[in-house]
Amino acid sequence: MINGITDHIEPDTLEALRDYQNPIDVVENPLMTGMNKVGDLFGSGKMFLPQVIKSARVMKKAVSILKPHIEKNNANSADMNRGKILMATVKGDVHDIGKNIAAVVLGCNGYEIIDLGVMVESENIIERALEHKVDFIGLSGLITPSLNEMVNVASEMERYNLDIPLLIGGATTSPSHTAVKIDPVYHGTVVHAQDASKAVTVVNNLTNNDKNKSYINHINEHYEKLRQAFELKTEYAKLISIKKARENKPKLDWDKFTVFKPKKTGITVYNKYPIEELIPYIDWTPFFKAWELPGRYPRILEYEHVGVEARKLLKDAEEQLDKIIADNLLDVRAVAGFFPANSISDDIEIYSDDSRANLIGTSFQLRQQKEKKPNRFNYCLSDFIAPKQSGVDDYIGAFAVSVSFTNQDILKKLKDTNDEYNEIMLKILADRLAEAMAERLHQIVRTELWGYSPEENIPTEKLPEEKYQGIRPAPGYPACPDHTEKEILFKLLDAENNIGTKLSENMMMIPASSVCGWYFSHPQSRYFNVGKIDKDQVEDYARRKGITKKEVEKWLSTYLIYNK
Ligand code: SAH
Repeated sequence: MINGITDHIEPDTLEALRDYQNPIDVVENPLMTGMNKVGDLFGSGKMFLPQVIKSARVMKKAVSILKPHIEKNNANSADMNRGKILMATVKGDVHDIGKNIAAVVLGCNGYEIIDLGVMVESENIIERALEHKVDFIGLSGLITPSLNEMVNVASEMERYNLDIPLLIGGATTSPSHTAVKIDPVYHGTVVHAQDASKAVTVVNNLTNNDKNKSYINHINEHYEKLRQAFELKTEYAKLISIKKARENKPKLDWDKFTVFKPKKTGITVYNKYPIEELIPYIDWTPFFKAWELPGRYPRILEYEHVGVEARKLLKDAEEQLDKIIADNLLDVRAVAGFFPANSISDDIEIYSDDSRANLIGTSFQLRQQKEKKPNRFNYCLSDFIAPKQSGVDDYIGAFAVSVSFTNQDILKKLKDTNDEYNEIMLKILADRLAEAMAERLHQIVRTELWGYSPEENIPTEKLPEEKYQGIRPAPGYPACPDHTEKEILFKLLDAENNIGTKLSENMMMIPASSVCGWYFSHPQSRYFNVGKIDKDQVEDYARRKGITKKEVEKWLSTYLIYNK
């Protein structure tokens, strides 16, 4: 959801780069020829990711059988390995689907992968890189705080005077962040490669002796331009003061508004929610995106080339879901709670009961500071909760959902038998079920628990359009980008005790397939993007939260308009 500036290398440059990837210089080695073929077909969009992942198992088997023979008889045996790549999801981050996909695809292209797994400390990355004499280090991360950790790993690599090229990938990474924050702290090559297909192109280019100099030059020039663009934007972006932004808040008419009191205040816990009930709530578009198939569901099923692959993938997913249910592989848990609340400026005070005498927590929110056109407002989530001085007794809700594996051996068994296709499929489906549960739970909230829309009658397949009354903004997402606000949310829900969900030091939820957020019921509540914020708001926010300005700058580093 959180997109950086998504300007990648221009399409025609990419075309040119593809032309010189995969040097077929090892014709005597049939395995390499096979790998190159897969790489070429994938790189040129003629073969899709699921096919590549499926072929990996056969490929790995073939390598293990043939490698000793080829090494004995073939002068080109060195080419069996194009290079070693260390891959790791950084400290505090547990998501590894994207990294695993990239690892499999790079493996299919003849690279040896040393996968350190998730939540890996920088010292460990550096030690293992030296120990294995790797040719590349690939870092992956899903949430924004991981971006800081990537900068940290890069500075540590500099401190140890390494020269190994560094690849940056994962959902929140961007060419711009790589150029502005990571590249400058490490003298070695740093390249952003968002996903598996990009990673292959990048690594192939860097290992191609004839071309790697011009490729690195091209990357350096491109990143220099991105840095200049960032400076320009910082100079010219017009932000207004936080005081002015507050004066331009949306005016909700609280006098005429009747708040709907939640039918069930306090906490509701769901354990082992029946998965068969959740299947209709699955939003399949992000499923295809996770598999790097472009297009929206259900139209994607009819597309000329992708359609065949999409249909196969969906069939496999449905079979896997049947197995998940039959063998009780996943446990879906959720907790929702509703609390008396009122806003005070940009804060939301949350009380223990309707006397509103005991404060049990405050949710601190951020406000848009971009200069708005007339009749457009500077939004903050607190605007959707009745101000304390209005005398209106309002409420806020909170929820958390987790999908966990009932038995970790399942994943280990799939990994040990090189069945990456089903391993990745299972993890992607666990993510989908967490989102499906969030959608189902929100529906239960609107119609029953809070109950402000008892008559709502939206067909299940239309729910992902989110046209219903109320929102469920998630900390770390654009309307409330501070991940640390998950702490108060988890405390209110007692999420760790109630459903076993934990927060990592980087505020990532564990297990990986988890979702959490606030519930706002006001008909005018809507999603928005806080966007860039200025020093005055950072200082104000730090004071309100009782933490240092530096701490705020760390968590919100990608949202600052200024260079700290
Ligand atoms: N159907 C999708 C749902 C996830 S994206 C799926 O299955 O993946 C939509 C969710 O992201 C919202 O329900 C909300 O929790 C969060 N979200 C979207 N836009 C947001 C914003 N601007 N600020 C905060 N949270 C947002």
